[in-house]
Amino acid sequence: MHAQTARTVVVATTNSHKLAEITRILDGLEYAVRPMIAYSPGPAPEETGQTFAGNARLKALHYARLVPHLTVADDSGLEIEGLDGEPGVHSARFNGATYREKFDIIYSRLRARGALASPARFVCAVAAAEGDRIVFEATGTIEGRVAEMPAGDGGFGYDPIFFYPPYGCTLAEVSTDRKATVSHRGRAFRKLRVFLESGTTP
Ligand code: IMP
Repeated sequence: MHAQTARTVVVATTNSHKLAEITRILDGLEYAVRPMIAYSPGPAPEETGQTFAGNARLKALHYARLVPHLTVADDSGLEIEGLDGEPGVHSARFNGATYREKFDIIYSRLRARGALASPARFVCAVAAAEGDRIVFEATGTIEGRVAEMPAGDGGFGYDPIFFYPPYGCTLAEVSTDRKATVSHRGRAFRKLRVFLESGTTP
């Protein structure tokens, strides 16, 4: 740890891909960025919120009670317009045991509705808590559409079916840094970064 590091921010996610993206986005701050798992936090809270922001708050408050540090949680997912916003807050638990199965279900439902290549967006809500208090909240989104077919083996989750027109490819076909430049998570966590650097909300 850097000798000058004054404070610790704890990132409350068990998703190793998310953790890698977040750690990278927060790199270089005068904070030690530590994963919640390092504190053996026990079972995750049930995500009972109806919104990304509600679930992010719920997770941040749950974990902030367990450690004496600023604790950050995110809740994120894919909203597909042609499926009335599904999978949305249920993205992680959406039908299908594997992402290949989830993709097949999404494509067959879109095909049935004549909505292939539907507009879609990723949303990321981030909340930071200290003790029993939320001290920061932000949201980031990225607009794109469902790809003709899954492509790429980078990223995670729904990245292979999310086509981002300005890049001309899916988010699974770009590097972690290029994804973070435009992604929902990049946008939300860069706001957190400004808050941590300056104490103000951008
Ligand atoms: P959470 O851990 O409850 O926030 O679940 C988020 C879920 O949304 C993930 O498990 C993925 O299925 C999906 N998701 C969120 N962000 C991304 C992303 O950046 N790429 C692909 N899928 C994502």
